[in-house]
Amino acid sequence: MTLALDGGTPVRTDPWPAWPPPLDPAQRDLVTKILDSGLWGATQGGGACESLTAAFARLSGVGHGVAVANATLGLFAALRGLGVKPGDEVIVPAYTFVASATSVLLAGAVPVIVDVDPADLHLSAAAVEAAITPRTAAIMPVHLAGSPADMDDLNAVAARHGLVVVEDAAQAHGATYKGRPIGGLGDAGVYSFQASKAMTAGEGGLIVCRDQAAHEAIWSVCNLGRRLGGQWYGHPEVGWNLRLTEIQAALLLPWLDRLDAEIDRREAFVSALDFGDLPVSVVPQPPGTTRDSRHLLMLRVHQPFDRDFLLRAMAAEGVPLDGGYPPLGTMTALTDAGARAEECPATAGAARDVVWMRQSMLMDDPVRAGDLTEALRKVLS
Ligand SMILES: *Cc1c(COP(=O)(O)O)cnc(C)c1O
Repeated sequence: MTLALDGGTPVRTDPWPAWPPPLDPAQRDLVTKILDSGLWGATQGGGACESLTAAFARLSGVGHGVAVANATLGLFAALRGLGVKPGDEVIVPAYTFVASATSVLLAGAVPVIVDVDPADLHLSAAAVEAAITPRTAAIMPVHLAGSPADMDDLNAVAARHGLVVVEDAAQAHGATYKGRPIGGLGDAGVYSFQASKAMTAGEGGLIVCRDQAAHEAIWSVCNLGRRLGGQWYGHPEVGWNLRLTEIQAALLLPWLDRLDAEIDRREAFVSALDFGDLPVSVVPQPPGTTRDSRHLLMLRVHQPFDRDFLLRAMAAEGVPLDGGYPPLGTMTALTDAGARAEECPATAGAARDVVWMRQSMLMDDPVRAGDLTEALRKVLS
């Protein structure tokens, strides 16, 4: 047995649930069927990508979708399809995965990195409003950690200034805001199926949107500039091949049937947490959250602590935590590439005080929630 950093017995020695969860028979059957059919590409008429797209549009409360190779490209395609042009500015939160900004760069646009709400760490409507210039074309709320950004406030700012709204839903499959599914609250929403996400095919992504013209434009970006229903070798627009494979769609389609149960399971784990008098709390959800998909559990530590020590000591206790995102504005690769960063004190605070527990751990039996608090108690004392 390995020892905890204090030389004692680790709080936890048995493994946490693996991610992804074991394949279920429905996934195995559908993947095998697709493999046997030889129809591995979405252009061959096998229909798995088409079914997945329809299912995600339904899940998001909209009529349209486009399955793509990953969410980075999906965000790019949504921006481009919705008319974001080189030189335009797109407002993104500072506390998010880097792809929220690099997708903007891919569209030739300027990521404008603004601060998050100091409590819930989601894109702040006030910070967005303050960063708007005549070149602002879009905003990209991120449904961070599985809880929806406060979309009514953000949509109101966007409407006042005539901006496009692209929801980064990479972490929030199945979440709802004021009872309405995310993904369908802006002009487009983009899910990810990368290996760490709540539904995964190793890689993958899916764009959903309400408007038919937007769908046709986004579809064209993802299909070499073709017109939906038009000639195969007719390319009236510039576009790329950003498609998902049928094999990936076959892994994902059956997953939709258990997504709700998996969210409930993670929620039960979180509900079982009792921090008692520990100087630790769960980062609150933005107002309007009616279902948090619990992609990550963000924990704020309310006393000064050494991050490296905390992360190493928690790992040694068998309860590994994650350090989370550095503020996007501190990434020189982004600013060197033209991103503009506003002052982001709340994000700096999150980078200092917030650590994460991963969704795979939240899939454990809720009776094991005490492992987290017991390990924190040892490490913080
Ligand atoms: C994972 C992630 C992405 C990128 O998704 P990929 O499918 O890996 O390209 C974008 N934004 C956020 C918030 C993410 O967590």
